[in-house]
Amino acid sequence: MSFETLNLNPRILRAVKEEGYSEPTPIQAQAIPAVLDGKDILAAAQTGTGKTAAFTLPLLQKLSSKKGEGKRYVRALVLTPTRELAAQVHQSVRTYGKYLKLKSVEIYGGVSMQPQTRALRNGVDTLVATPGRLLDHLNQSNVDLSRVEILVLDEADRMLDMGFINDIKKIIAELPHFRQNLLFSATFSDEIKRLSKTILKEPEMIKVAADNKTAERIKQTIHPVDRAKKADLLSHLIGANDWKQVLVFTRTKHGADKLSRRLAQDGLPSTSIHGNKTQAARMKALKAFKEGRVRVLVATDVAARGIDIDRLGQVVNFDLPEVAEDYVHRIGRTGRAGNAGEAFSLVCIDERHLLHRIEKLTGTQIERVLVEGFHPDPSIKAEVPKKRSRGNRGRSFGSRSGNGASGGREGRSFRRRSY
Ligand code: AMP
Repeated sequence: MSFETLNLNPRILRAVKEEGYSEPTPIQAQAIPAVLDGKDILAAAQTGTGKTAAFTLPLLQKLSSKKGEGKRYVRALVLTPTRELAAQVHQSVRTYGKYLKLKSVEIYGGVSMQPQTRALRNGVDTLVATPGRLLDHLNQSNVDLSRVEILVLDEADRMLDMGFINDIKKIIAELPHFRQNLLFSATFSDEIKRLSKTILKEPEMIKVAADNKTAERIKQTIHPVDRAKKADLLSHLIGANDWKQVLVFTRTKHGADKLSRRLAQDGLPSTSIHGNKTQAARMKALKAFKEGRVRVLVATDVAARGIDIDRLGQVVNFDLPEVAEDYVHRIGRTGRAGNAGEAFSLVCIDERHLLHRIEKLTGTQIERVLVEGFHPDPSIKAEVPKKRSRGNRGRSFGSRSGNGASGGREGRSFRRRSY
């Protein structure tokens, strides 16, 4: 299939061609006609599938084919969970719409409100925003959403994870009843299904990969290793394989900083990106990484969400995520738009239960590869941090109360299984 068959404006096609895209990705081939047809859609798509263009191209087509008269008002609203993703989606709107006479604005927190207020007052067709800051502007009557024709919820699962549900509901209450709704989510939890029922009208379901399945083009490997040797192993892997641009995930902000310093000491230019850094510092780190000035970017989940880096070859889980869905999001940073990618996880004995959760969610058994010189010491016992163990126990007792048998089975199997 070619882009020409999709009934897009020649000005949009020109911009798409300039990006070097020869044909639509599967999500684009399915979503673009459905959106142009006016349908609501519920799309299961991870970052890297071309999902941004899948909603941006038809959105621009619709806005450009029906002229707003006189003053501009917000006709398309895209909500994203993070500032980085808002900035990125906005960049896509600008790129694909560069030959159209449409205006777009990005709105997110962590930066001054005034320039955003001015931009909103000057008139805008497409608004890309994170929920919290948009609500601030709504509360100050800086923006009118009463004429929105298309609402896009991008990475809706992550917006729920980040606790934006009430903000989203408040924003939706400002929108007209008759509008088109597009919901994109990498994973499909019951919460997402509930949200989609309240927002979408007879949606067309679009799936490019099976639920919660990790992209097949990503080669996944587990390296079992002792906790204390993880940083050494990572340095070794980067050096021995001559990785040029590697994204590394840690569970904590402190861990991200510490690891980035350690890698720099080993002669591997590194930087970190996490929620304690200012927006400007995060953008700067991302830029240095994209431009190849630093070889390793160490990130926490929230900060890395939505990062789009072309041809990212390797993603490393220095720590496994507590939430199995995050694994799917993390490794989705590699193997983008048809490129092959590799995801490595350094797993110590404390993380076996997290690994099993991931394998249960993705329905795959990830290959274990021992690295010479880094074999785990069998005498080392699992160590669960005191605070976390209390918290987890409290939660799991709660969730097990109606389901004691399966909870018990799972508990035993963790102890018996090796990596
Ligand atoms: P996304 O899933 O929206 O984050 O997009 C992932 C990457 O795929 C971005 O770098 C896009 O520029 C790229 N991309 C989007 N559509 C296409 C296409 N049809 N052909 C090739 N690359 C694409």
